[in-house]
Amino acid sequence: MHFHIVTLFPKAFNSYLGESILKRAIEDKKVKVSFYNPRDFVTNKHKRIDRPPYAGGPGMVIQAEPVVKAVERVVKKIKNKKYKIIFLSPRGKQFSNSYAAKFTKKYKNIIIVCGRYEGIDARVKKIFKVDEISIGPFVLTGGELPAMIVLDAISRQV
Ligand code: SAM
Repeated sequence: MHFHIVTLFPKAFNSYLGESILKRAIEDKKVKVSFYNPRDFVTNKHKRIDRPPYAGGPGMVIQAEPVVKAVERVVKKIKNKKYKIIFLSPRGKQFSNSYAAKFTKKYKNIIIVCGRYEGIDARVKKIFKVDEISIGPFVLTGGELPAMIVLDAISRQV
């Protein structure tokens, strides 16, 4: 199973992936994890990654363009293999073990997009077909912990 994680904070994953069963699964090449940082795809002069929401509202969101480019990079890399894009969001469908099991049977490439701030510019969801997934009825500061939970539950099925 190859997880492609789109995150502003790839280092946040190091300690958890470097321990116990997931560490062994990665060493045994049963699980592979690659990271793509939207910050590497920012083209504006001041290298800003956040912007006010396009449709108005409080706070800042991650800009659409760098996220779109990061996801396109993954899609190009995995060529014509079957993949699924997961958008982590507290408004998403509740993640469950049956969802993880279904996934493991169907896909070998999973793109997980982690939000930050007040989320990701809503236009990204209109460009890609995504599953919007929540790990529970609470709001965290970012999608990195939810991504680790999804990755762990799916890897366990592998
Ligand atoms: N106002 C935003 C909303 O209602 O969607 C909250 C954004 S939250 C502060 C920042 C990011 O954390 C989200 O974009 C999402 O990626 C992640 N996140 C927070 N809670 C989550 C949850 N329960 N399940 C999945 N992802 C979550």
